[in-house]
Amino acid sequence: MSGTESEKRPASPESAVVLLSGGMDSTTLLHYVVRRLAVGKVYALSFLYGQKHRRELEAAAWQARAAGVIAHDVVDMSFFGALTPGGSTLTDQALDVPRLADLGAAQLSQPPTYVPNRNMILLSLAAAYAEARGVADIYYGAQAQDRYGYWDCTAGFLDRINAVLALNRRIPVRVQAPFVAWRKAEELRLGRDLGVDYAHTWTCYRGESAPCGNCPACVERAAAFREAGWPDPLLRVCFTKGRTGRITAGPGGAYGGVVPETERTLSRT
Ligand SMILES: [Zn+2]
Repeated sequence: MSGTESEKRPASPESAVVLLSGGMDSTTLLHYVVRRLAVGKVYALSFLYGQKHRRELEAAAWQARAAGVIAHDVVDMSFFGALTPGGSTLTDQALDVPRLADLGAAQLSQPPTYVPNRNMILLSLAAAYAEARGVADIYYGAQAQDRYGYWDCTAGFLDRINAVLALNRRIPVRVQAPFVAWRKAEELRLGRDLGVDYAHTWTCYRGESAPCGNCPACVERAAAFREAGWPDPLLRVCFTKGRTGRITAGPGGAYGGVVPETERTLSRT
């Protein structure tokens, strides 16, 4: 064995880093890695990237505990919003999160909810985190229904970032995205098999007391639960039905009757 090879730190196939936002995609992925892939040492990694609310991070912490990860670390890059003024409605306090129904076709190719180069930055930080721990595999919850407007959720992006990471001479970390060709409803069916509690996930771009029901993320989530034929347990938690059967808690509005106001979906699959 050459000196260089003998100095290599073995990358354990028993360990993985999972990017965990607290949304339904990454939460399903976390439990898939822990329960289905039976990876013994799982590190969950979340990011404060200047998003307007922390509800998804609270959900991430809950899910990390439920999955029994050996560590859940939150990277504070809350400077990111100031670094990218006007870059995204998710990080610029002066910009309102749009309703999906108000977005035109031209905007959908890269919607105002896109965050400039965020995912490459998050994956780069995750690669450093993994490499330092001798972990070769990062799991990333990209799925097919986001590729319409987010280039950094596509298979082409993954291929290229993996090609760059493969240049690493000691621990060529790989980004694994097992759901990259999946629809969200397929994830939900897997998650149901795995016993995932989606009441402890957060998807809405607005961090209010209940999901707004009309931002792009809410509409996509609602469509996925409908397609899976399964009521969203988060809505049961957020909207309490009184004796009349009417929604009596939460902001009402778009989720009155627990049905989003539009059937429009972002899916291009
Ligand atoms: Zn919403």
